[in-house]
Amino acid sequence: MKKVLVTGALGQIGTELVMYLRNIYGNNNVIASDIAKKGSEKVIEAGPFEIIDVLDVRKIDEAVEKYNPDVIIHLAAILSAVGESNPSLAWNVNMYGLFNILEVARSKGCAVFTPSSIAAFGPSTPKDNTPQDTIQRPTTMYGVTKVAGELLCDYYFSKYGVDTRGVRFPGLISYEALPGGGTTDYAVHIYYEAVKNKKYTCYIKEGTYMDMMYMPDALNAIVSLIEANPDKLIHRNAFNITAMSFAPEHIYSEIKKIIPEFIMDYNVDPIRQAIADSWPNSLDDSAAREEWGWNPKYNLTLMTKDMIEKLSVKLK
Ligand code: NAD
Repeated sequence: MKKVLVTGALGQIGTELVMYLRNIYGNNNVIASDIAKKGSEKVIEAGPFEIIDVLDVRKIDEAVEKYNPDVIIHLAAILSAVGESNPSLAWNVNMYGLFNILEVARSKGCAVFTPSSIAAFGPSTPKDNTPQDTIQRPTTMYGVTKVAGELLCDYYFSKYGVDTRGVRFPGLISYEALPGGGTTDYAVHIYYEAVKNKKYTCYIKEGTYMDMMYMPDALNAIVSLIEANPDKLIHRNAFNITAMSFAPEHIYSEIKKIIPEFIMDYNVDPIRQAIADSWPNSLDDSAAREEWGWNPKYNLTLMTKDMIEKLSVKLK
């Protein structure tokens, strides 16, 4: 039975991950934390919750001293679109936040899981079936921090033996908490607007492929990797994982099969389009499949059915 501390626990992933982990490890063994007490009441009230700014190393240290977790799941970060509008904030939170977590983990003997992203790739990366080990020259501040973060996690493992692990998540689609300002957010907003207003204006251009994943598969990936046998891990940090790759018109036509009156038009946002154009179309996730049994359950059709069912209840 593991004890887990989660940072950034009130964001899109944390809101669902904390409840998922509490079901597995027990309420008191999963300590949620975020910079403020603003978000899911379930996460804040169903188990321990601490206010932790990841830029405050003392706070992290105190929480680790108090709860003695086996693993820190570090989710606190600034995402791609917000990062492009405030690059210095993205650098500070993403780099110093991770550095502080790794330092505390090193001194207290905890493992660390932290997600990287498809944003760790750039325009010179092979776009289709992007390999696990390939060129990484991202052109966003978010991407720069993600590559540096991958390297820093590798460094803490090889230099100090900290048990660091991580995946490169694609765009994540979910209905519990709204996304925090990424480039793939359209693939969440489109479902909300389809259910609420039957129309959506998409800021990403037709024909723009990106990798995506439904949240249940993402949660399963995190637990599978933190529970994986370390002897089998060759890559450890930054495993490519994906579940589907599609462009806006594909998600639109899947939704239309269930909501025939749904209409979509386009008003392309040049900043987010440029970010999307710099990312891969589809990832090769065979290393994750081989090393720890990664195997997603949801494709676009299954996800669309579930999202619309869940949002129809939620937005009633
Ligand atoms: P999010 O933006 O929804 O949540 C991030 C959380 O971090 C927020 O609750 C925010 O309050 C908190 N935070 C911000 N600054 C903080 C600070 N200084 N101290 C403590 N907390 C702070 O993000 P998310 O989607 O849940 O992403 C979590 C991780 O997964 C990030 O590392 C992100 O890069 C990665 N990721 C997410 C996606 C996705 O589609 N959601 C895709 C790839 C990678």
